[in-house]
Order: sequence, then C-alpha cells, then structure tokens
Amino acid sequence: MRIVSNSIEGRDIAYQMHPNVNLRKYEKTGGLVIESGDGIYVTDNNGKRYIEGMAGLWSVALGFGEKRLAEVAKAQMEKLPYYHTFSYKTHGPSIDLAELLISIAPVPMSKVHFTSSGSEANDLACKMVWYRSNALGNKDKKKIIGRIKGYHGVTIAAASITGLPRNHESFDLPLDRMFHTSCPSYVHFGKDGESEADFTARILNDLEELILKEGPETIAAFWGEPVMGAGGVLVPPAGYWEGVQAILKKYDILLVADEVICGFGRTGKMFACETYNIKPDVLIVSKQISSSYMPLSALIMNDAFYQPIADESDRIGVFGHGFTASGHPVATAVGLENLKIIQERDLVGNAARLEEKFLGRLAELAKHPLAHSSRGVGLIGALEIKPWGDAKPGDAAAAVSAALEEEGVISRNIGEALCFCPPLIITAEQIDDMFDAVGRALDKVEKTRA
Ligand code: PLP
Repeated sequence: MRIVSNSIEGRDIAYQMHPNVNLRKYEKTGGLVIESGDGIYVTDNNGKRYIEGMAGLWSVALGFGEKRLAEVAKAQMEKLPYYHTFSYKTHGPSIDLAELLISIAPVPMSKVHFTSSGSEANDLACKMVWYRSNALGNKDKKKIIGRIKGYHGVTIAAASITGLPRNHESFDLPLDRMFHTSCPSYVHFGKDGESEADFTARILNDLEELILKEGPETIAAFWGEPVMGAGGVLVPPAGYWEGVQAILKKYDILLVADEVICGFGRTGKMFACETYNIKPDVLIVSKQISSSYMPLSALIMNDAFYQPIADESDRIGVFGHGFTASGHPVATAVGLENLKIIQERDLVGNAARLEEKFLGRLAELAKHPLAHSSRGVGLIGALEIKPWGDAKPGDAAAAVSAALEEEGVISRNIGEALCFCPPLIITAEQIDDMFDAVGRALDKVEKTRA
C-alpha cells in the first residue's frame, strides 16, 4: 500500500501525471497550487497573490475573473449544454462565432472549422493539406516545412512540424514528411559580424535551398507562428515575412499562419498577420479566442483551400474527420462573448498603446548586469539572461524566474529567455509593478552570485 500525504500537494504528486515537467523532479518538488484568480492576478493555496505575467499559457486575455464569461457559460449550459456538429446538425453559438471570425479575419476567408486545442487545429490543418493535395491529383505534394524552434503543438503531425527537439526525442518524431528550416532569430543565430539584413537574406536562402533540394513539386505547405512563442518569444527580423511569402508564391506552396498565441490582439493588432503583412491560406487560432476559459480552437481557411476539400468529400461521400466536441456550444458561446468583450473594451488598442511602455521597461531591464538583451512586440516580450560561467544551459533564466516567483510574479523561462505575455487587460501601473519585481529578482540573483 502506498502512503499518500493528505496535503493537496501530496495528493497531486501521488495521483496526477503532469504535462511538460521532469516527472522524476515533480515527484520530489510537487507544484504550486493555484486556487483562485481575479484580474491579472492568481492566488495560491497559502493565500499568496501573483501577477500572472504569462496570462496562464499565453492565453487569458481578459484576466482571471471575467464574470460575463461565467454567466454566458451558465446560460448556455442551461439552454443546450452539448450538441455536436456532425451528421448535418448545427447550432447557434458555433454559427455566430464562425461568422464573427470570418468578419474580423485579416484576409478574405471562406470557412471556419472548430477544434478544441491548438494541437488539434494544427494536426487537422496538416491532414487537410494532404487531403487537398490528393483532391487536386497532386499525390506527391505532401511535404511540410516548419522551422527550428517553431511550436505548433504535441499531437503527432503538430509535434512533427514543431521544431523543438524535446517534443520529438523518444516519441519517434518527426514524421518523415516534415522538414525544418532556419529559425529567424537574429539574436540566437546571427553570425559574428553579420548584419540583421544579411542574416535575413541568409535564412531566406536556406528556405529556398531546402525547397529546391526536396523538389518544389513535393512541398505542400509552410507553417509559421508570426512571432514564435514557445521557442522563446522570437520576433522576426524586418523583411522576413515578405521574403518567405515571395518564395512560397514562386513555388506554389501554401502558407499556414499559426496565431494560437498572437491572435486577438497580442501584437497590438487583432492578428499578427496584420502586424507583419502576412496573407495566409489557413489561419490557426486558439487560446485568446476564449481567454482559455473553455478549450477552443479554429482553422480559418480561404476559399481556394476549402473548395478542393469540399469536392473530395463529395467524391468520397463524407469528410471523414470530426471530434465529439467540434464547435462545442458552451465553448463557442464563451468564445463569442470573449471576442465581443475584447472589441468593446478595445483591448487590441490597449496592447498597442502599452507596447512602448512594456518594451521600454524590458529594454531598461536589459541594462542589468545579469541581462543580455530584450525583445518583443505589443504585449509579448522576453528578457534574455546572460548565463554565468558555470551555469548549465537555462539555469540562469530559471534562477531569475524562481526569484521572481518569490517576488510575486509568474513568468516563464525558456532557455535563457525570461518570457512575459500578460493578460491584455493589464494597465500601465501594473506593467510597472511587474517589471519593478523583475528588477528586484535580478538584484537578488546577482547577490547570490557575488
Ligand atoms: N501553436 C502555438 C503557436 C502554440 O503556442 C501552442 C501552445 O502553446 C499550440 C499551437 C498548441 O496548443 P495546445 O496546447 O492548445 O494544443
């Protein structure tokens, strides 16, 4: 018989296997138990309050206490808690949200298909790219190009397009149709003496060389986050997206823009496709679509993408894909209300107005002796920490993140980057509170190193 400590932390260790942790380490340390939330804050089970500097997982646009979302969820639960969208059935919330998404999409789009997570949406987009190639008789046009450090989720196809080794190793991934081209992060991959413009030209050349090596007629799609999130908040250099799109056009390759993090205001525009003038064939959204109060994601596709797929389903007799929760009425009702609130309160404008302050404070912190540089756009940014002599990769940012948590701010350390992506409702004063705490955490860690 196993002995289980009766504390909540003990029961968590005993019974729950967590995502994205070192499982052996978790057995010893356990996790921080978060009990409640309000505005940009969450509170743990000991009553300690934190600024959630990451909006959960880059996702809680409206903060942690939006009553209108709770009320809409309750009303929908009482009216129609569940219905599906299979077999020629449909319902109001999914239709209303699809219509709104088409009306605000950054480029003319034709149809919305709902899923429940970013991974599912990317996985399905990949299946649809293959289905479409078959529909068009292009049986060999199936390869997909993602990017080193790109992140698109953890299901088999999405993880294969992801360019992070930890999502591949021992999972027997990536699939052999998936390739990864250079990462557009000048700060990490620029060579000594190379200008940013030369770096951009070099990585665009890498993309074209990969396409030519594999055979343009075999490449179906290119996948990219406008700003890479889980790779460490990597902002593209000037001219990068223009260059990528020119190459894709030249070789007739589809563009899938993964706005799971960027969508709905994060970069100071409704979509980062507007920030970087990206014209995708398929747009993937999730997270801020419902502020993550309910699991929800969507593929938004243009007509040229949709039509061959519709023809193929007609030939076969059915589009043989769907989830029990596709377009779930409670999730889509909450998503609709969430987007209405983002529009009513002009939270996209809030991100645009606060960008200068947010990036300015990060740039000031980058002058600290423990910091290397800062980067960001809108309300997403990172402070690159300088590893000290004997630090293992990632240890320095982890130490600052831990000290910051003691100071009452939750951040995320990815490699040497300390990442911030606060709720879109944050105010200028709260940005000061958050970054004042980062300054104190840096000083604290520096003292322990002295
Ligand atoms: N795409 C991007 C850009 C993401 O950041 C994420 C998650 O962080 C995903 C896809 C996967 O989403 P999910 O965790 O909902 O499967």
